[in-house]
Amino acid sequence: MTKMNGSCRCGAVRYEVTGHPKRVGICHCTDCRQESGSAFTFYAVWPASAFVTTGETDQYEGRSFCPKCGSRLFSQDSEEAEIKLGTLESAPTELVPTYELWIKRRERWLPPIPGAQQFDQDRV
Ligand SMILES: [Zn+2]
Ligand SMILES: [Zn+2]
Repeated sequence: MTKMNGSCRCGAVRYEVTGHPKRVGICHCTDCRQESGSAFTFYAVWPASAFVTTGETDQYEGRSFCPKCGSRLFSQDSEEAEIKLGTLESAPTELVPTYELWIKRRERWLPPIPGAQQFDQDRV
């Protein structure tokens, strides 16, 4: 099975995901903008059982980050792990978003992703 590895900027936190993600998306919401410091987040969701991490993380509102370098990495609960794909080791990734959330907050210079489902706010 396909494995992919990722880490924070300083390398103190590492993780591995196995197999294909359940879904890949982009979110333009205000929380994602502020948290990432960028215009949107690019993420994918795996079953919790496909995700392994090492190293110490801190959390804010359920979102885990490296306390040393500040990289935002993932959120997880008992069912799923949502990974910020900019933290994967290889770039570009093979992963393509199939949906976009909060497009009403999308920067005006950014076109919709062709073929991706568009949601004005959260997924319904
Ligand atoms: Zn770090
Ligand atoms: Zn968001």
